[in-house]
Parts: sequence; C-alpha cells; structure tokens
Amino acid sequence: MTTELGRSCKPYTEPMAPEETGFSAPRGTRDLLPPASSAWQKVIRYAQDSFSKAGYQPVETPAFEQTEVFARGVGATSEVVTKQMYTFTDQGGRSLTLRPEATASVVRAVLENNLHRGALPVKLAYFGWMYRQERPQKGRYRQFFQLGIEALGASAATVDAEVIEVADRFYKGLGLKTILKLNSIGHPGESCRGSYNDALVAYLREHEASLAEEDRARIATNPLRTFDSKESSTIAVMSEAPVITDHLCSDCAEHFVTIRSALDAVGIEYELDPRLVRGLDYYTRTAFEFVAGDLGAQNAVGGGGRYDGLAEVLGGPPVPGIGFALGLDRIMLALGDIALEPAVTAYVVALGDEAIREAFPLATRLRRAGIGCEFDLMGRQMKGQMKDAVRSGARFAVIIGEAELEAGEATVKDLATGEQERVALDRLEEWLGA
Ligand code: AMP
Repeated sequence: MTTELGRSCKPYTEPMAPEETGFSAPRGTRDLLPPASSAWQKVIRYAQDSFSKAGYQPVETPAFEQTEVFARGVGATSEVVTKQMYTFTDQGGRSLTLRPEATASVVRAVLENNLHRGALPVKLAYFGWMYRQERPQKGRYRQFFQLGIEALGASAATVDAEVIEVADRFYKGLGLKTILKLNSIGHPGESCRGSYNDALVAYLREHEASLAEEDRARIATNPLRTFDSKESSTIAVMSEAPVITDHLCSDCAEHFVTIRSALDAVGIEYELDPRLVRGLDYYTRTAFEFVAGDLGAQNAVGGGGRYDGLAEVLGGPPVPGIGFALGLDRIMLALGDIALEPAVTAYVVALGDEAIREAFPLATRLRRAGIGCEFDLMGRQMKGQMKDAVRSGARFAVIIGEAELEAGEATVKDLATGEQERVALDRLEEWLGA
C-alpha cells in the first residue's frame, strides 16, 4: 500500500524463521510490527470513534476471569469451553482462564458493579485480545483481537437493529465489503426452540449413520451445534434438516420481523440464513454474522447475537442483552491496504558539532508545540540523515548547519516537492504547523 509519501504498508509482516536465539512467538500468536502495527491502531481508533457515535462507551475487563464465568457463560457444551480455553491454577489454587471472548466478562462486570440497576440500556464497547487454543491457520490465531459492543437491559428489536447498524457502519466506513447473514434461533422455551429441538433430534436420529462421529455425540448434548460442523458428511445431512425459523413462537417471530423492517428502513441489506447458529451457547433469538468475500475458509469477520439468558446463568437477575464481536485480525487481512498518515511532520538534519547539539532541543521544542519530529540518533552524515528523514515519513527536513545557526534560521526542505526555503528558527512552529 502506498501513502502520500510513498511508504508502503503490508497488512502483516509474516513471521520469519527464528534468528539464532531459537525463540519464536508461541504457536498461533504473531508480532505486529511497524508499519502494520500503525494500521492496526488506526482501525482500532476508527472503531472506538464509530461505536461511540451510537453511545457505546469503553469498558475494560481483566484478561482472565474465574473459569466458571466462561464455563457457565459460554456454555459447557460449546467447543470454546470444551476444547479451546487456556485454563490455569494460580498460586491460591483458583482456576482462572484467559478470556476466550468478552461477552461473559462484560456481563459479569455489569452485574458485579450494578450497572443494570442504573440507566438502561447499558451500552459498552471493548477492544481487546482474546485467547483460544484453536488449530492455527490464516485468519485463525490463538491470540486474536476483538472489537465489540454490548447493549444490556433492553429487549426491544430496535436494539438488535442498532447493534447491527453499528457494525454495518463500521465496515462500510472502512470500505470493507461484507455480507450480513441473519437468523433467529428463538428462545429456549417449549413453544419455540424446545419444539424445534425435538424435530431436529428426530431428524438427526434418522440420519445418525451419515453423521460424522463427533456430531453424533452432539445429538444428545447440543443438537443445534450440528449446524456448525465442518465435516462434509454432516454438512450434507444438515442441508435437508428442519430449520428453526419454521418453529419460532409468535413473540420471537414478531421480534425477528421487527428487526428486519428496522434494517430495511435504513437500507441495511442482509441474507436470511436459517442454518446460522453461532458457536456460543448463550444466544437467544437474533444471531448474525458478517462475512467478507475473499478470505477463504476463515471468512467470518464478525458476529453477534442476543443473549437474554446470560445474566441469569451468571447468577444475576434477568437482564436481556445483545452484542457483537468483530475479529480485527481478519478485518486487517480483508482490508489489505490502509493509507497511513506519516507519524512525524519534521526531521531535523544537523551538520556540524554545534548544530548536532541543537538537534535534540529543537526537536523537543517542536514536539512540545504538537509537531511530530525526529532527528538523527546514529551519528549519520548529511546524506544518511536525509535518507533517514525520508524513512521517517516526515514531510519536511529542517536543516541546520553553521550558516543557518549564525543567521538564526533553518533551511526547510519539502521532501515531497524538493522545494526549500529559509525560515527563522523562532517561527518554525508557526511555519510547520500551518
Ligand atoms: P466469536 O467470538 O466466535 O463469535 O467470533 C467473533 C469474531 O471473532 C469472528 O467472526 C472472527 O472474526 C473473530 N475470531 C474468532 N475466533 C478467532 C480466531 N481464533 N482467530 C482470529 N479471529 C477470530
């Protein structure tokens, strides 16, 4: 990718073979190096800004929680809990887990801090690393970054539409083309998902012999999860399976219709996908996912849904909720190119002992005035300093030599056009800031 000054920025720097130290980042983790790391930060800032435009305020929760928060919150039969958690015992004998996702943590924090007894809905946004012991591949890592929002305390369908709108606006603002897949998985009651489960289990039993072994076990524990299977034999069976949307109770069906008309009203397009169930156990009613076309197997760039039962599962009162988590690693892969503003505006090029001594105070003065500035820290000659100025991305080289210092001036060279002019040293802030 090319910036105004011709610096290029790949979305990722692929890991190199380990140097002679023999150490490398743990499997499934990556280092984010400049300039990709700046592109990464830029997208996070953009997310913070676009989520806050709908009133979602940042929340920070710990990177680890009591294991029970996830075991109960995410659900004991989910893949995340059964296979993927980084769980350890601390010195006090407590079982702790690195967060595999943030919704359970946020709900725990809301309940613990009584936010659900204050102004509703509670609207929170988080930006942080998550940890899952998955088999690493392109777009799937063991430490990955999620951007998320949660709205708690409101069950109206408009809240579902708002949450989807926030994600949609974020992707569109980034220029990322995504497809929104939408479903309702009803509520757990007998009149709704309960009766559907019976129909699904009957169908799965009928086709048990054609299911992958792992999925056969799910019939008894969590039949809905068979829709998530990656096994081709199961996928074939599921394509003919009864779908939840034919079994929704009237309240859930109406909720779903209302969301769709709210999305229609603001021109947000979606595809109905009655087989979309999402990987976590706590979802009720709305489930959605955003996929990006050219990402290959790991093409889900975000997803979310309603989790009206989660607060109770965590020991609190009923507090309805809905949210999403967007995967920044995959968003960066899908974006490819991001234009980066240069980090600094100016680079002080110093010639001669006196000027070299002046470089640090001058750079400091400019920085204090809010103007990004670098100077040579390697004892380079003039030519090397000019090269380093280009490397820094600075628009201007502020050249000081004996003659300039004597005149109380600097030669300011525009590195993009090559034009240069003398500027009084005490007017530099004004000149560069303009
Ligand atoms: P989930 O929390 O499983 O609903 O995932 C929400 C989003 O997080 C997904 O759509 C992905 O974009 C991203 N995500 C989930 N797991 C991983 C992973 N192991 N590596 C990278 N991104 C992930």
